[in-house]
Amino acid sequence: MHSALGAGRSLLIGGRWEAADDMMPVTNPWSGEALGAVACADAGHVERAVASALRGAAAMRLLSTGERSRILHAAAAALEADNERFAAAITTETGKPIRAARREVARAVNTLRLSAEEAVRLAGETIAFDSFPGGEARSGYYVYEPVGVIAAITPFNDPLNLVCHKLGPAFAAGNSVVLKPAEQAPLVAIMLARLLLAAGLPEEALCLLTGRGSDFGDALTGHADVAMVSFTGGAHVGEAICRAAGIKRLAMELGGNGPVIVMDDANIEKAASACVAGAFGAAGQNCIGVQRIYVHDTVFNAFQAALLAALKALRVGDPMDGETDVGPMIGATEAERMIAWTVEAVSRGATLLAGGERAGTLVRPTLLANVPDDASIACHEAFGPVVSLFRFTDLDAAIDAANRADYAIHAALFSESLRTVRYAAARLRAAGVMINDSTDYRLDAMPFGGAGRGNMGREGVRYAAREMSQTKVICFHDA
Ligand code: NAD
Repeated sequence: MHSALGAGRSLLIGGRWEAADDMMPVTNPWSGEALGAVACADAGHVERAVASALRGAAAMRLLSTGERSRILHAAAAALEADNERFAAAITTETGKPIRAARREVARAVNTLRLSAEEAVRLAGETIAFDSFPGGEARSGYYVYEPVGVIAAITPFNDPLNLVCHKLGPAFAAGNSVVLKPAEQAPLVAIMLARLLLAAGLPEEALCLLTGRGSDFGDALTGHADVAMVSFTGGAHVGEAICRAAGIKRLAMELGGNGPVIVMDDANIEKAASACVAGAFGAAGQNCIGVQRIYVHDTVFNAFQAALLAALKALRVGDPMDGETDVGPMIGATEAERMIAWTVEAVSRGATLLAGGERAGTLVRPTLLANVPDDASIACHEAFGPVVSLFRFTDLDAAIDAANRADYAIHAALFSESLRTVRYAAARLRAAGVMINDSTDYRLDAMPFGGAGRGNMGREGVRYAAREMSQTKVICFHDA
C-alpha cells in the first residue's frame, strides 16, 4: 500500500497527491503488520486545501445536476466492479471481518447510487405567495443552492461507507469537500478519492488530508472559508470541533449506547440471535451496536441461556477468514479499556457470564449481568464487544432505564404485542426504534442521526443533501 500511494503521497490538494515531512504509520490491527505510512497534514496544508476547495466549490456549483449524477453513478459502478479489493482494504486496516467488509462495500455502492439519484431530485417548489393578503401580485419559488466548502471528518469503524455518506450528498448538492479520514484507517478513503477523480469529479472538488485531527483539526474546522463541518465520531471530539468551528453549519453524528428491551411475549431465540449479531459485529465498534439488554423477569433465564448459546457459537479470530464473526478491536488501547471497564463492573458486583479476556487487540465476546447502572460499561458508550443484561418487571421502568444515556441513536424492542410496541416506540428516546430487531439496523436511505445531547442534523442521503444545501427564494412582483 505504501508504494501504491507513491511513498506516502496521501494528501490530495488541487488534484495532485503530495507527501509531507511528517509521516505516520497505518497498521493492521490483527497482524500488527505495517500497511504503509501516510502524510501528516498541518495548518499550511489546510490553507492550501481550503483555497483549492473554494475553486472546487465554484466548479461544482456550475456543474449540471445531470453531470453530478453521472459522476456519482460512474463512481458507484467502479466501486461495485472493484468490490473485493475495497473489502480487503477495509479488513486489513480496521480488522473488520471480511464478510462484514463486503457488506460495507455493497452499502457504499448503494450510498453513492442514492446520491446520484438525489442529485437530480434536489429541487425546490413553487410558493403560494397569494395565500396571505399583500401577496396577490406575487409569484415565485425556492431552489436549493450548495453551501460551498464542506469539511468532512470521519471515524475508523466504517471507513468507506461513512465517507460515502459525506461525499455523496455533498457532491449531489453541488459542494466541494475537504475530507479528513480517520487516522487509523485512511487508506480505503484514499482509494475512494482516486476512484471519484477517475469517474470525472472536477479535480478541485475534493481535497483529502491525512494525519492527526489534533494537529490540524482546529485550522480546518475553524477556517472562515469552510461553510459547514460534517462530523461523525465521538462526542468529546464533536464538542471540541463545535468550539473550534464557531458559528457555521454543523452536522454532528455522535455515539450511542444501544438499549434493547425484551418483553415476556418476545420470540426469545430470534431476540437472542439478533442481539448477539448486533452486539458483537465489528467487535462492537458500531455506533448503533447493542450495549444494554433489558429482559423481562419471566423470560430472563431463558433469554440468558439462548444468548450465551449464540455467543459461544461465534467464530473469533482472523478477520480475513470468511468464517470469522468477531475480529480484533482497532487498537490495544481500546481493547485494554474494554477489559478495564469489565473489571470495574465485576469489582462492583457484576457477574461475568462470558469473555472478559484479551489477547492483544482481540477481546473475547463478553457478557455481563447485574451491572450497576453507573458503572462505566453501562453509562458510557462501550464501542467494544461487551454487552450487559438487566432484569425488569415493569415496562415503564425499563424504558426509563433505556432512556438513561447521554447519547442515543437507536433503541430496540422485542414483543409480539402491538399495543406494547406502539407504547414503547413512542416513549423510547431515540432517533430510530427497531421493532423485533436489534438496534443494529440501518438502511442508508433512511433518516439517521442522534437523539438527545449533541445531536445535530440527519444523514441518510436525501436528508444530508438538504442539510448540505441552503434554500433561496425567488419572488416576482407582477404589479
Ligand atoms: P473519534 O472521535 O476519535 O475520531 C473521529 C475523527 O475525528 C477522526 O478522523 C479523527 O482524526 C478526527 N479528529 C480528532 N480530533 C479532532 C479535532 N480536534 N478536530 C477535527 N477532527 C478531529 O472517533 P473514532 O474513534 O474514529 O470513532 C468512534 C466514534 O465514532 C464512536 O463514538 C462512535 O459511536 C462514533 N460513530 C458515530 C456514527 C454515527 O453515524 N453516529 C457512526 C460511526 C461511529
